[in-house]
Amino acid sequence: MSNSSTGTKQNQRSTQHIVLLPGDGIGPEVINSARQVLQACAQKYNVTLTFTEAAIGGAAYDRCGHPLPQATVDQCCAADAVLMGAVGGPAWDKLERQLRPESALLGIRQAMGVYCNLRPAILYPQLGAASPLRSDVAAKGMDLLICRELTGGIYFGDRGRETIKLPDGQTVESAWDTERYNTLEIERIARWAFKSAQARRRHLTLVDKANVLESSRLWRETVTNLASDYPEVQVDFLYVDNAAMQLLRRPYDFDVILTSNMFGDILSDEAAEISGSIGLLPSASLGKADRPGLYEPIHGSAPDIAGQGKANPLATILSAAMLLRYSLNLPQAAAAVETACQAVLSAGYRSEDLQVVGSSQPVMKVGTQGMTDAVLSYLK
Ligand code: NAD
Repeated sequence: MSNSSTGTKQNQRSTQHIVLLPGDGIGPEVINSARQVLQACAQKYNVTLTFTEAAIGGAAYDRCGHPLPQATVDQCCAADAVLMGAVGGPAWDKLERQLRPESALLGIRQAMGVYCNLRPAILYPQLGAASPLRSDVAAKGMDLLICRELTGGIYFGDRGRETIKLPDGQTVESAWDTERYNTLEIERIARWAFKSAQARRRHLTLVDKANVLESSRLWRETVTNLASDYPEVQVDFLYVDNAAMQLLRRPYDFDVILTSNMFGDILSDEAAEISGSIGLLPSASLGKADRPGLYEPIHGSAPDIAGQGKANPLATILSAAMLLRYSLNLPQAAAAVETACQAVLSAGYRSEDLQVVGSSQPVMKVGTQGMTDAVLSYLK
């Protein structure tokens, strides 16, 4: 299912314009890798790709005093697709909230209207030894897709702080954040999840906290009402605390997980760890069919390894594959990149984040460019 296949944009232009947002920390390093892979695909599949870099995050703050300059927003909204690295780092941690690099993430997602965040998480058999799961569980693999709502909920809700007086006369500081969803927001992401399930193993799990939260009860009602439009999809429900456990006990049982912004944020990091490393998981954020998608690895800027050439570029390269599939309507190129990444792992290439304890095969330790070169050689 491609984003463009549901709309009018069918790769009509021979030149596709991609905005790159390197950001901070390892962001520029992994974006550089993904760009090389996209350029190789352009040659192989006879498309013209043009690239522009725009500033975001701490790098943008340092350059122009704001983590999300209007020029960046304008460039992203006018592109065919946007590929982002990561933002954030200790240098900017003490800035006020709206100037912190992370606020640019929420800002760009909202400005581009990308409400549907697709996060595939696969435990490749060749990485069983890198997963923290017991070997008999890891042996059964994992291949799931998290459909996370991205522009609503508690990350965007009303928030504030105030000093209040308790009944006993004490004065204390209080703070609140608000989880609020409407049926339209739930329906549009739920339809993505149902359609994704139709194209996969036809099983959808809604993860919520409906035993406590009113907003979760609205999610359940809305998804239950929609289910009759997709009779071939089996639907079940899990509370988020139970889902976190079941992901560890039986990750192989999940197909599509539909969930809210915050629960999706947390569960996808758990799924990443199960897969062997957060350096492996890509994401696509999509909105209306005729609008550009935003693609990014799910990891952060990893300040602890930035500038050392150690970052695993596969999550960003796989995000570029999603970009080829969903925004440029080049499913063959996307599949070729995904196959090349798998081949590299099968051949034993390992960046530092992929633990090699107990691996039965010969291992080649590589850095960011070594891993990129390996992917490029399999692509050719
Ligand atoms: P992180 O994902 O940056 O790093 C967590 C751990 O995973 C670190 O040990 C890091 O070295 C490792 N890691 C992450 N990506 C890797 C890769 N590609 N290859 C090898 N190892 C990798 O999370 P964090 O440490 O909690 O956050 C660091 C900064 O990133 C913070 O400022 C945070 O706010 C920001 N952040 C940004 C995003 C984003 O841009 N989308 C997401 C999460 C965190």
